[in-house]
Amino acid sequence: MERIASCTCGQSNITMEGDPAFVVACNCQGCQTSTGSVFRVGAYFKETQQRAISGTFKAFERPTDNGGIFTTRFCENCGTTLYFHAGSLPGMVGVAAGCFTDPAFPSPKNALWVEHKYDWVDFPDGWTQHQGQP
Ligand SMILES: [Zn+2]
Ligand SMILES: [Zn+2]
Repeated sequence: MERIASCTCGQSNITMEGDPAFVVACNCQGCQTSTGSVFRVGAYFKETQQRAISGTFKAFERPTDNGGIFTTRFCENCGTTLYFHAGSLPGMVGVAAGCFTDPAFPSPKNALWVEHKYDWVDFPDGWTQHQGQP
């Protein structure tokens, strides 16, 4: 099953095959400011599941709190962050779960950097919550 994630204006798309290896809700401050939301939901796939990318992107690299580099790629036209690479996850590509606009998309099971979680955010029972990231 192919899954296509698209930016808001529609010119940038990434196509992945199958289910993500894992999905995380990241509450780190870089994800908060990058998304403008209070956490980022990142769906991580193996790079071998990547089928196609179209559109024009810009990249932004930032150091992470655990000493790595996190690179986000965003649509040059509308600014939507569509996919990203974490230095701590070689061979994986993260895709912004919201860009699939699929309510049936697999749920996160882990929340990271919960020390920065907004007080009024409650993750479901059964999710693992980590200070920092494992
Ligand atoms: Zn766009
Ligand atoms: Zn984060």
